[in-house]
Amino acid sequence: MTGAAPGLFHAGFAPGLAPVRIRFGIGARHDLSADLSALGIARALVLTTPEQAAEGAALAAALGPRAAGLCARAAMHTPVAVTDAAMADLAASGADGLLALGGGSTIGLGKALALRTGLKQLVLPTTYAGSEATPVLGQTEGGRKTTLKDPGVQPQGIVYDPELVAGLPAAMSVTSGLNAMAHAVEALYAPDANPLSSSLAMEGLRAFHRGLPAVAAAPGDLGARADTLYGAWACGAVLGQVGMGLHHKLCHTLGGALNLPHAQTHAILLPHATAYNEAAAALALVPLAEMLGAENAAAGLHAFARALGAPLALRDLGVAEADLDPVADMAADAPYPNPRPLERAPLRALLQAAWEGGAPGGSAP
Ligand code: NAD
Repeated sequence: MTGAAPGLFHAGFAPGLAPVRIRFGIGARHDLSADLSALGIARALVLTTPEQAAEGAALAAALGPRAAGLCARAAMHTPVAVTDAAMADLAASGADGLLALGGGSTIGLGKALALRTGLKQLVLPTTYAGSEATPVLGQTEGGRKTTLKDPGVQPQGIVYDPELVAGLPAAMSVTSGLNAMAHAVEALYAPDANPLSSSLAMEGLRAFHRGLPAVAAAPGDLGARADTLYGAWACGAVLGQVGMGLHHKLCHTLGGALNLPHAQTHAILLPHATAYNEAAAALALVPLAEMLGAENAAAGLHAFARALGAPLALRDLGVAEADLDPVADMAADAPYPNPRPLERAPLRALLQAAWEGGAPGGSAP
């Protein structure tokens, strides 16, 4: 079955971004020949993770001669050693393009290969992380993560097929959706926000507000999957357009220092980082609070996450209370744009509340 999901545009170019061919459709993955041809790709190397190797192999088999092989090596945070091994696979395959099937880890591998070779990328996202819509790449080497922004790593084609996320378990769908929403929340108060980026951010937030509860209740609901994939595109696109603040910095610091799972860390921290900034960014966050039907955006996000059964406490991810002090030091030490100045004591209080899992601002859950 092919065709656009209800309420979604079928194919087109994203406004205000580098030209990217975007196609939405239930079952759209079954015919990628036009998408590959539009990018000038004759034979693509299919990329995925070891966990999704079977899906990658099935895609490569379905592509027949348009697939140059399968590289199922992708890993979280794009380790350079993995990219080096994938470069050897790429050279051996004779591929003239890349086809990433997966979440942010797989898409990160495709971006890293594109950076090194200039090859075009077609992406089939299977999570809501949104990396497919950004020119951003984070890579790790020797335990250090560095992030670059380069138009050359932005995938030129994206095919959003709701059936590809339908298999993402409900709990992962919830945290991945909250990860995407975090991009849009920070976009609302970004120093370089503009009316178009703020509308795009709210568009993504509304899609998840509508779709994520339905996905959590029925992971196979393709209408809700289509809504949330559209939200992932909007949230990813706005992440690529404007600068992120405290929330992303904290997730980066915590994730890098303690090797925490990416989406869960975002899900837990979002209400607390929002509470930290709420007074300084009150006007920008009003539409979000209104959408959530809450007194303020932070309380609304916390209630939304709770109702979805999302993880709420850093201690449940195995973080020790003693780890919070060095993270607060790191977050306060590195200056970056944020609506509220970064002060160590309130940052430490934010981390304590996120560690305990209470309501934002430190009051009881
Ligand atoms: P992921 O890609 O690491 O996937 C997590 C696990 O879930 C993997 O084992 C994967 O194979 C599996 N998985 C993915 N989709 C599935 C599905 N539909 N069904 C079953 N299993 C599935 O997770 P993620 O949260 O999408 O990506 C996290 C990574 O992406 C991090 O490294 C993060 O830094 C990066 N990221 C980058 C950007 C950017 O703009 N550069 C944006 C967001 C995230």
